Amino acid sequence: MNEPNLVDFHCHLDLHADMQAAFDRCEQLSCTTFTVTTTPKAYSRNVDFAASTKHIKAALGLHPQLVAKRGGEIDLFEEFVGTTRYIGEIGLDASRSHYASFDKQKLVFDRALRLCAAQRDKIISIHSARCARQVLEALHNTDVCRSNVIVLHWFSAGQTEVRKAIELGCWFSVNQQMLTSETGRKLLAVVPRDRILTETDAPFMKVGEKTLVGGDVIGVLENIASFWKMDFQETRDLIASNATRALL
Ligand SMILES: [Zn+2]
Repeated sequence: MNEPNLVDFHCHLDLHADMQAAFDRCEQLSCTTFTVTTTPKAYSRNVDFAASTKHIKAALGLHPQLVAKRGGEIDLFEEFVGTTRYIGEIGLDASRSHYASFDKQKLVFDRALRLCAAQRDKIISIHSARCARQVLEALHNTDVCRSNVIVLHWFSAGQTEVRKAIELGCWFSVNQQMLTSETGRKLLAVVPRDRILTETDAPFMKVGEKTLVGGDVIGVLENIASFWKMDFQETRDLIASNATRALL
């Protein structure tokens, strides 16, 4: 049988209305899925769900939007971090509703990155809303890029930051929403094609009236293929081989 070889490198399967159905669907699609968690407390349950699958990786995270209330769980993050290669979602969020906790977010993010830098060989999915520059500074200061795969999820930034991120060796997971903006299309134009992955960020992504679920990446693949002026199948194969390399 021909494997569909899809890639969803950032989604939240545990936040879907039916978590089991969300896992089952990605698995049935043979979709390489990087499912992130938002708090370390949610992590073990995701590991249990992923254990019987072939295509789903459950990542350990502490979402910057939750740091105000749950930043203390960084201790639990530290407890688990040695047990997995998959980290996310971590990062910084300087949008208006989360800016009050920005200093605390920086401490938590920095500690998480330093743990990964010390342990090496992680794959890390990173959130960077309205603070691309600060996220890149943290990556640079902790030297985490040297020995880990950094995947910038939904990276929305100017060309200077995009180029810095490329220089740091970052990868980029892109979604359908991003490609409706000029910034997103510019990113896709300059990032080396072998560092592009697809994502849905489901269940937080709406395309038209439809809320995407984990594994719904055909739309973004079609957009990338047409933007690159590449055959759909070829694009799909390239992204799939990128994901295999990222996870090596
Ligand atoms: Zn997310």
